[in-house]
Amino acid sequence: MIRLRATGKKALHLRYLVEDFFGEVMMSDGEADFSLEKDLFTDYRKDPPYQFSVSSDSYLVSIHKYFSEEKEDLGGWGIMHGVRPLKWIHMRREEGWTTRAIQQDLLENGRLREDKLDLLFEVEANQKTFFESDRDKLSLYISLPFCPTICHFCCFHSVPYTKRLSELYLSQLYEDLALLHEKIQENNKTVDIVYVGGGTPSSLRTEQLSALLEQIERYFPKDSLKEYTIEAGRIDSFTEEKAELIAQFATRVCINPQTFSEEVLQTVGRPSALEMKKWVHYFKEKGLLINADLIAGLPGESLQQFLHSLERLIELEPENITIHQLSKKKGSKLMEDLQDNPSAGEMTTRAYQRLKDANFHPYYLYRQKKMVDRGENIGYAKKGTECLYNIRMMEDQHEVVAAGSNSVLKKIRGGKLTRLTNYRDVRVFLLNPERYGEHLQAFFADNDARDEGE
Ligand code: SF4
Repeated sequence: MIRLRATGKKALHLRYLVEDFFGEVMMSDGEADFSLEKDLFTDYRKDPPYQFSVSSDSYLVSIHKYFSEEKEDLGGWGIMHGVRPLKWIHMRREEGWTTRAIQQDLLENGRLREDKLDLLFEVEANQKTFFESDRDKLSLYISLPFCPTICHFCCFHSVPYTKRLSELYLSQLYEDLALLHEKIQENNKTVDIVYVGGGTPSSLRTEQLSALLEQIERYFPKDSLKEYTIEAGRIDSFTEEKAELIAQFATRVCINPQTFSEEVLQTVGRPSALEMKKWVHYFKEKGLLINADLIAGLPGESLQQFLHSLERLIELEPENITIHQLSKKKGSKLMEDLQDNPSAGEMTTRAYQRLKDANFHPYYLYRQKKMVDRGENIGYAKKGTECLYNIRMMEDQHEVVAAGSNSVLKKIRGGKLTRLTNYRDVRVFLLNPERYGEHLQAFFADNDARDEGE
């Protein structure tokens, strides 16, 4: 545990950076191990305390250099502590920078390692066409925060499924969808992508799932969409009837084994992956595109087990594979006590090489706090099967409307992004239904101004 003292925005930046290097950080008013105040960085662990001044616009670079001398491996992401490292490139492209100048900037001012630099530009090239098109369209995210049980590494807002709570939730969600649809119509906007996520929407009972998908179809018919994804990540939530419903309405489905090692799955509270093959074949036959996730760095998983899982997944021929690196976030059961998996970094690197050999290319990327090897999550796809929603969500160049608990509306006006986030907790969400109307009001408030201005 590191104690840190800093003020304002710098406190936040410094915290993320130090947390990335050292793990848990406590912000402290009094005693501190490090502090950043009045452009002076102090390391109190040294005797006498070591101090150096940092200019206000390059303090992270100075501090990164300092820690580089202190610690052998700081990971490859330099001072980039945010979720979306590609934004650094997008912002500079918009300002007219050349590729060469951006590369130089990332190396010198971002302190990025060369392999991460290459990765970023590769992802950027692979998502370019999708990233630039249809900026006037809206993507819709619908949140279903229920799962059969909670996986031990989960830090989402999901709750175990209960009939009573899900009924209350669905009835509120239907009201919100009706209101959203009305606003979209009034403002002459078009939704071209739907993503039903969570949680695990397939945890709903068959009749609930059927009613939900019918409701979505009523407002946002499948025929009018470019892409329609349903998360069905947990195989233990499937039945023939639910799979049939998903196949009828969606164009893509996510089924996530996370690993094929049954022993590791038990450790992290996930269901068996033995039926993965059956369901992948089922959805393929119905013509859906499939995304499947693996996690690198699960507790107790060896490099060999991970690579074996990767081979089994490639054999099933999903169109998309996402490799996450485990993130040890607060709120997840067990994670605080678990030792880091020392192979997580190599798993991620080997997965990249193997997937490229198997004709998958990396097309979106994001980072999370407390990843076990300070790595990244990468979405890979066979050419032409990229999930547009994932690109739009990550790159923040398209507006997103959303419904349900913890859902985020993203409004863009004059290049400025505003996030309108609904209550994270399902019960609080249900107790405050008026919040959504306020958000929709705010989202569409200056719609005309934007249309004229852009
Ligand atoms: S299936 Fe996903 S959302 Fe549900 S508990 Fe597991 S990790 Fe969390």
